[in-house]
Amino acid sequence: MIKVTVWHENYHDRTDEATQAMYPGGMHNVIASFLKKDEEFEVRTATLDEENCGLPDEILEDTDVLLWWGHAKHDDVPDELAKKVHERVLRGMGIIFLHSAHMSKPFRLTMGTSCTLKWRDNDRERLWTVLPQHPIAKGVDEYIELESEEMYGERFDIPQPDELVFLGWFAGGEVFRSGCTWYKGLGKVFYFQPGHETNPSYHNEQVQKIITNAVRWAAPQVMIEKLDCPHYASLEKKRLENN
Ligand code: ZN
Repeated sequence: MIKVTVWHENYHDRTDEATQAMYPGGMHNVIASFLKKDEEFEVRTATLDEENCGLPDEILEDTDVLLWWGHAKHDDVPDELAKKVHERVLRGMGIIFLHSAHMSKPFRLTMGTSCTLKWRDNDRERLWTVLPQHPIAKGVDEYIELESEEMYGERFDIPQPDELVFLGWFAGGEVFRSGCTWYKGLGKVFYFQPGHETNPSYHNEQVQKIITNAVRWAAPQVMIEKLDCPHYASLEKKRLENN
C-alpha cells in the first residue's frame, strides 16, 4: 500500500462561496476521493487548521507521498514544519506540489529558488503532454483543454527540471512549465500547475489521472531513517584482513 496524505490550507474553502460551490466539502476531500479509487492507495487528508497544522510527526513519518495545496496562508506554516517536510523528501518521501503551492515554504526550500511566476485569472489553457513515455503521462491524451484556469506564465523561477512532462499554453499567449519533476536526495518531486480554487480542473478526469499517476511515480523506492555522513571502513582493507 502507498500511504498518501493530501495536505490543504483549507482557507478559501471556508471563506469563499465560489470555492465552496466548485469543491463542496473542500478541495482536499475532492482530491482524496478520486485518489481513493486506486486500491493501492491508503489516503488521508490533513489541513492547516488542525492541530500541528495537520502534520504532527506521527502523520508525516507515516506518509509515503504528500500532496500540498496552499495559497493564502503559506506564512502560517511554521518554518520548522517546512524543514521537516523537506528533510523527509531528502530521506525518500514523494511530494506533489499543486498549483499555488509554488510559493509554499516546502516547495521554495526544496527548489532553492524564489519560485515566482506571472499570473492572471480565468484564461483558457491547453496543456500539452511533452514527455508521453513518462510514467506520470501514462494514458494521458496528447493535450488537455481546460476551458478556464488561472494563467501561470514564464519565467517560472525554478531550477532546471529533471524532467518536463507537461507544457501549458494559455489563450493570452503565455507558456508555462506546468508539469515538472525533480529528484531531490532520495525523494521524488512533482509540480503540477492546474488547480485554481474557483476553476474545475480537479473534476477533469485527465487531470485526475495525472495526479494519480504522479502519486504512484513518487512513491518511495528507498526510505532512510536519517541523513548522516557515516565513517566508512575500507572494503579492501577488510578483504585483505580476512584473507
Ligand atoms: Zn490560483
